[in-house]
Amino acid sequence: MQSQKKFKHSFSCEFFPPKTEQGMEKLHNTSRQLKDVIKPDYFSVTFGAGGSTRERTFEAVKQIKLASDIDVAPHLSCMGSSRDQLTEVLDNYKQQGIRRIVTLRGDMPSGMVTAGDFNHANELVSFIRQQHGEHFKLEVAAYPEFHPQAETATQDLLNFKRKIEAGANGAITQYFYNIDAYFRFVESCEQMALDIPIMPGIMPITNFTSLSRFSDTCGAEIPRWLRKRLQDYGDDIASIKAFGADVVTDLCQKLLDAGAPGLHFYTLNQAEATIKIWERLSIER
Ligand code: FAD
Repeated sequence: MQSQKKFKHSFSCEFFPPKTEQGMEKLHNTSRQLKDVIKPDYFSVTFGAGGSTRERTFEAVKQIKLASDIDVAPHLSCMGSSRDQLTEVLDNYKQQGIRRIVTLRGDMPSGMVTAGDFNHANELVSFIRQQHGEHFKLEVAAYPEFHPQAETATQDLLNFKRKIEAGANGAITQYFYNIDAYFRFVESCEQMALDIPIMPGIMPITNFTSLSRFSDTCGAEIPRWLRKRLQDYGDDIASIKAFGADVVTDLCQKLLDAGAPGLHFYTLNQAEATIKIWERLSIER
């Protein structure tokens, strides 16, 4: 973890683009609360598979940027998109003064048969660097427990290296509850001489059913002891939230104490759970 200690701490919060005006209104409240308490370095906004939320992501980025003086980093995935489509999106973001992009492959949307002009995130990183030089800071995804489609752990690490060599400035991890997986991942990156901050992605625990379903698809493991304890609470949401806050606060504190370069919160457009964790952390900024 030595290599991570030299990076200045960064804290960020991720949102998804709301489908309704009411959802957007709620997101404004959430971003206001997070801004006041956390003062994040940036907010990020996800991008639906195959560009399915393109307009909504644009709109959410624009509105959050206008309403707060916090930087906003749109996510951009290349799967299912053409070069022309991505050129248009990137030009648009440049005009809006966007300086950071979370650069992804994404997943093939159901019903779509061709991948488009790009197969992997490293190709999108190269494309953005070719088109826009160093204008954008580029974050890429990292998987301490490995990507679900990874052939082997080593291959996945080598593929991660390609994204950094293509010009990514930093990485944000998939969420995890096995802290050793993150430490080992960082150690492997150190062995490959990758000199970038690897930001742990933090998923607060508020609902066991949806967390369990999502974890199965994205390959993030809920350790047996944690799963069993959460199952015991059944429909008792208050107890799940209280226990989840204890577990995730502990995880965050251990990460920061070990030298993690900050935290990226998957907020799911809710402020409460993230703030509850944040207020119990001891952080030097
Ligand atoms: P890649 O880095 O391309 O990796 C995907 C797989 O291909 C891996 O198994 C890898 O080992 C392999 N691979 C990579 N490069 C090569 C290569 N050159 N040759 C052969 N194999 C290769 N999804 C969304 O749809 N929208 C979002 O906004 C979004 N935000 C995310 C934010 C974060 C922080 C994270 C961690 C994930 C996010 N995702 C999002 C999910 C992500 O799109 C999926 O996990 C997707 O399956 C992989 O995207 P990637 O950018 O990691 O792909």
